[in-house]
Amino acid sequence: MFDKILIANRGEIALRVIRAAREMGIKSVAVHSTADSDAMHVRMADESVCIGPPSSTDSYLKKSAIISACEITGAQAVHPGYGFLSENASFAQALEDHGLVFIGPTADHIRIMGDKITAKETAKELGIPVVPGSAGGVADFETALKVAEEIGYPVIIKATAGGGGRGMKVARDASELEVSFRTARSEAKAAFGNDEVYIEKYLQKPRHIEVQVFGDGKGNAVHLGERDCSLQRRHQKVFEEAPGPSITPKLRSEIGEVCAAAMRKLKYIGAGTIEFLYEDGKFYFIEMNTRLQVEHPVTEAIFGVDLVREQIRVAAGLPLSFTQDELEINGHAIEVRINAERLPNFAPCPGTVTQYHAPGGLGVRMDSALYDGYRIPPYYDSLIGKLIVHGRDRPEALARLRRALGELIVDGVDTTVPLFNALLAEPDIQNGEYSIHWLEKWLDKQFG
Ligand code: ADP
Repeated sequence: MFDKILIANRGEIALRVIRAAREMGIKSVAVHSTADSDAMHVRMADESVCIGPPSSTDSYLKKSAIISACEITGAQAVHPGYGFLSENASFAQALEDHGLVFIGPTADHIRIMGDKITAKETAKELGIPVVPGSAGGVADFETALKVAEEIGYPVIIKATAGGGGRGMKVARDASELEVSFRTARSEAKAAFGNDEVYIEKYLQKPRHIEVQVFGDGKGNAVHLGERDCSLQRRHQKVFEEAPGPSITPKLRSEIGEVCAAAMRKLKYIGAGTIEFLYEDGKFYFIEMNTRLQVEHPVTEAIFGVDLVREQIRVAAGLPLSFTQDELEINGHAIEVRINAERLPNFAPCPGTVTQYHAPGGLGVRMDSALYDGYRIPPYYDSLIGKLIVHGRDRPEALARLRRALGELIVDGVDTTVPLFNALLAEPDIQNGEYSIHWLEKWLDKQFG
């Protein structure tokens, strides 16, 4: 096992990894930008290294600075968290070249799944059902038109290099397609430096269901059920739950086994998430994330496992600490993402947190790097906390969420807490009846 690991991230996810490491007797090294000198992850780690100025390009994304920090501190492995360098194949490769371990999958696996077209082709080959669409990139409007007519409108145009819900355009007919195709390409070029796009059937009322997988890199892999992350704003998740309210045990083990078998074939190592749209009893692969996800705690809650500990173990060459048969679902868990944002436009709202009080009690977990007097810097993601509740069943989890939100105090900045209080009063949320479009429609009705 490693003696010391470096965490190439900040905020709540850096704390999450430091905590797992400490429980395993592993020392932790935090890295930080000059804007984060006072951040909680710096205070909580055993050591810290400043790696650059506020801009993430010059700090959290700067591979050479992170590798130097490993060399200075003697860290043997790097946990990338999510975002930043977590799905950067050349970073994983660079670590390996320096004799360091990337706590995650191999550079090859990241590469295959990072390119959405290759990912879809690979998924198909591995026996995973995919959304109908173009075979690969679509270079010109004539081809786009042909593909759209074949699969039928509406269609969605997606950037091959896209991510984080950006670079997608819907077209309902041929004339919309012409405009959407051109704008999608120029936006993709601007955002990702790559104008390649592909086309998929646009599903009308699907749910976003994702399957958590875990592999040991030696051909053994398991699944840990699904999460329903259908409540999204601008393709960004805001509320996630496990198990999915619409997924039966039979469906779960069927799709779970398809995913686990695919990971065994790939000899996948570490945590991964296979994302699907789910409609009328059918699953359609959209992408795979080769990293730990923001919403991993809901899976941890219902299975009683520590996914970060498991990531560190398999990265050190140890086998998985559970078999498929030992993984049993216990109750229901919900996570809400608390962002420093002002409603109704969700405008980022950085500033000083004058008072912070985290909720507690049975079945409540608050993952956050906030403290009284903390200054939220304007340079990074607006996520300031994740509130995760666990109950014996979904109604208990909902009641616990309502109670816990009532205890939470974040003064000095606006947050998305009022959104969740309002959502909890909605019958559709109480009944678990929502698709990926539900939240946008509801927001339109509330705020116009
Ligand atoms: P990203 O990598 O940017 O997150 P995804 O491919 O995972 O992109 O898609 C993000 C979200 O966009 C999905 O959860 C879903 O809400 C919506 N979406 C993607 N593909 C489709 C599709 N074919 N039909 C309808 N909605 C889609």
